[in-house]
Amino acid sequence: MNTTQKIHEITLIPGDGIGPEVIESTRRLIDATGVKVNWDVVHAGASQFKKGIPSGVPQETIESIRRTRLVLKGPLETPVGFGEKSANVTLRKLFETYGNIRPVREWVGVPTPYSGRKLDLTVVRENVEDLYAGIEHMQTPEVAQCLKLISKKGCEKIVRLAFEVARAEGRKSVHCATKSNIMKMTEGLLKRTFEEIAPEYPDIAAHHIIIDNCAHQLVKKPEQFEVIVTTNMNGDIMSDLTSALVGGLGFAPSANIGSECAIFEAVHGSAPKYAGKDVINPTAMIMSGVMLLRHIGETDAAQTIEDALSVTWAEAKARTRDVVGDVNAVGTRAFTEAVMNNFGKKPKDAIRVSKPIKLPVFKTDMGKIAVKQREVVGLDVFVETDDSSEVLGTKLNHALTGTPVKLKMISNRGTQVFPATGGSTDTVNQFRCRLMALTAAQDITLSDLNLVLERVEGVARWMHIEKLQSFDAKPAYTKAQGED
Ligand code: NAP
Repeated sequence: MNTTQKIHEITLIPGDGIGPEVIESTRRLIDATGVKVNWDVVHAGASQFKKGIPSGVPQETIESIRRTRLVLKGPLETPVGFGEKSANVTLRKLFETYGNIRPVREWVGVPTPYSGRKLDLTVVRENVEDLYAGIEHMQTPEVAQCLKLISKKGCEKIVRLAFEVARAEGRKSVHCATKSNIMKMTEGLLKRTFEEIAPEYPDIAAHHIIIDNCAHQLVKKPEQFEVIVTTNMNGDIMSDLTSALVGGLGFAPSANIGSECAIFEAVHGSAPKYAGKDVINPTAMIMSGVMLLRHIGETDAAQTIEDALSVTWAEAKARTRDVVGDVNAVGTRAFTEAVMNNFGKKPKDAIRVSKPIKLPVFKTDMGKIAVKQREVVGLDVFVETDDSSEVLGTKLNHALTGTPVKLKMISNRGTQVFPATGGSTDTVNQFRCRLMALTAAQDITLSDLNLVLERVEGVARWMHIEKLQSFDAKPAYTKAQGED
């Protein structure tokens, strides 16, 4: 086999739960190809939280990644619903791995309801923005908020990466899946950016699809998709769905791609109930290793492992318990041996041979949108009160007399409740009060703001304000449901 003579420096994070077992399988197979690697073994996740490192990512791990720019990583455990932030997300964000590439394909010998349909598609998920930025606040003791931040720059990066993935994989089409019918500014920004950039890739057909229909179509007729580009949370959910089409999370690899760093890991988590039992399927992690090898140009070694893995599944002699159940299964280590014994064999059915992805190069001013005229036309002030919307509205109308703003409407979780619309919204104790500037085209000054907030505070506790702006005479905010 042709391997380059280069010695690759790679950071290796074994991870939590089943992580060390799947990482060991992958490392053994990579080493067995003859590719030369200096593995720098460092740690992150549960063990580091226990040591009192609040991010779960110690400095020596950060230093190692900064040096190698290349990581093979096992899954890391994250406490659910409380406590520390995800060390996975921290790693992805620290090194600006803006794109998460998640390919799935049919494995001959792995029976699924879709067997024989030759499924083969890739989800390209935005990886650092959206709700997973994790910017959350309790606005009242009873009402939580999570900010969904989407930038033009982030959209441009992920869209260009998706088209480059399509080219590297020899694909004919890319679908952009968004919820832009509802979230016109955030999800809509991805759709608009996709439509702007698509003409630069005339060899690839560009389609937009609404994300919920995308989920429906993925189950009904998944063959219609080749590459799907989507926002962070949508991509997280969709890629678990696509993994289930081909046999489950045991078959879903991924690459977190940045301009300067790449982290390769299985889509699955640490599956703690199987930790140390030598029962789990290492295919997802092994395929993540294959993606890493392609990324660094070791394409022959990548092909050797992928071919041997395909042969192993197709000959159906060594299969793990997620595929054949407990009785007939082999363990993780025995499965890995079987793959190694199949080095040099070619699968009967052709499998897609991808080229290394040509990473997009971004201009420094990328994502800038020139605006000639900006105005502040009003304020959304978020308040906490146990008053009814009618009482709150009446009090505010009175309190704002003599200020440069007037109350336009009050909404509760996005639906107008004052003036009453005839609907029957069940309100909670957090309201958004939309206050418009009395004089058109008049900016609201800091002293105006002070006065307004003083008056609002006399009526209800305020916790958050948002400027209502217009850019080039277009409103840069959405209306409430029911608002004129
Ligand atoms: P999970 O660890 O992915 O496991 C969910 C289920 O998927 C398992 O119970 C098992 O299903 C199946 N599964 C996962 N990996 C498998 C493999 N290699 N072979 C065969 N089956 C496999 O998800 P979770 O239980 O929701 O999360 C556990 C922890 O992992 C959490 O702390 C979570 O935050 C973390 N997590 C980390 C990452 C990451 O590091 N990138 C990603 C996701 C989750 P059956 O029960 O049906 O056998």
